[in-house]
Amino acid sequence: MAPSPLFYQAGPALPEVSHAKGVYLWDDTGKQYLDGCSGAIACNLGHGRDDIRDAMLAQLDRVAFTYRTQFESAPAVALAETLVTLTHRQLEKVFFVSSGSEAVESALKLARQYFVASGEPQRQRFVSLRPSYHGSTLGALGVTGYEPLEAPFADITTASLKVPGPDFYRHGDADDAWHVTRVLEETRATIEAAGPETIIAFVLEPVGGASTGARLLDRRYLEGIRALCDEFGCLLILDEVLTGVGRTGAWFAYQHYGVTPDLLATAKGLGAGYYPVGAVLSRADIVETVMASGGFQHGHTYAGNPLACATGLAVIDAMQREHVLDNVAARGHELKEGLQALKARFPWVGDVRGLGLLWGVELVADATTKAPFPAEQNRFARITALAREEGLLIYPRRTLNGVAGDHFLVTPPLTINAADTAELLVRLERAMLRFDREVTASTAK
Ligand code: PMP
Repeated sequence: MAPSPLFYQAGPALPEVSHAKGVYLWDDTGKQYLDGCSGAIACNLGHGRDDIRDAMLAQLDRVAFTYRTQFESAPAVALAETLVTLTHRQLEKVFFVSSGSEAVESALKLARQYFVASGEPQRQRFVSLRPSYHGSTLGALGVTGYEPLEAPFADITTASLKVPGPDFYRHGDADDAWHVTRVLEETRATIEAAGPETIIAFVLEPVGGASTGARLLDRRYLEGIRALCDEFGCLLILDEVLTGVGRTGAWFAYQHYGVTPDLLATAKGLGAGYYPVGAVLSRADIVETVMASGGFQHGHTYAGNPLACATGLAVIDAMQREHVLDNVAARGHELKEGLQALKARFPWVGDVRGLGLLWGVELVADATTKAPFPAEQNRFARITALAREEGLLIYPRRTLNGVAGDHFLVTPPLTINAADTAELLVRLERAMLRFDREVTASTAK
């Protein structure tokens, strides 16, 4: 067979996907996989749904594409209105895009243009966390704190000020409140040294995604960041590309914490894998200021096209009809219990953390010192390969020196039922038993 012209990733050739239904996928050899990570935390309603297909076909029959400056489209207006309602009208303006990176990029540019229009052009940089992941375009990469991705582009991106976020696994323990206070003080000092009047916005994920293995922030931290933004006159941008549209059990994760952002970026689950669609949600006055200055100098060809928005509407409609957020709470609880039971059995499971159906499992060489496995052992890849052999897809991330161990995400479709949640845990347990034998063998040498 000729080598594939695709070059997405190094590593062994992948099997070809054949078809998918519900939480299961099959490859061309007939092997079945339970989708324990919703692809890339995107296929939130599972695969092969007739209702989404029907809504998409109906829109395709009417009109698939119109350009947003030439026609208003009913699905776009309706989806925007639905999203605004889901924020309880705290964010009243919507700008559509086609991916998470575009959503973050658009939020960064909207925030900058707001300050230019407001007579504060000296606000020229962002503050974000290390580790974090905000996307792969150059602007979104500039606020990303993930060294392997940043390195080749460090000289040509405008990097944000990077500050550490709270890490309750490694530094919290007995006194989480003190840890939050210390992290916030450090952040304040960094901003004061840089000049608060130069800051456009603080950018963060309310629950970390792949970069941190579902590391949770907490209410005190988010309240502290909100207060810093208000004191320094900069904006708070929440990246809910991964956490938005129900993943954590609320429509948006910030709603767990009662801290409202000025701008919010969302994507992945909005199209639920059926069509690319993302959005920036904004405080009305920010958009009004920018529009009064001549309009937002930004846009993407496919943004807000009728087919994208009809898909997003069908996704949210299905979630409301089926009370999917209730399922996230019930299945999230079962998953949490199951993962914690596995943690109790395997000493190399350092931490299990998460919210709703967003769970991270961090692997360590030594549970007492919390020392990660040596990076060159590629443990994240091994556990993922073993899970795959056992018919389970999980979402892996390699260890980051000093900040996080190897970890993987367990993020099944939000519609997963109790039987499939139990099956997911059985397959994970089988993979972990095999991994455990390998860890024991390698440390006995
Ligand atoms: N922000 C976060 C928090 C993400 O998890 C991702 C995707 N993993 C992105 C931004 C980028 O989204 P996309 O891959 O759709 O560009």
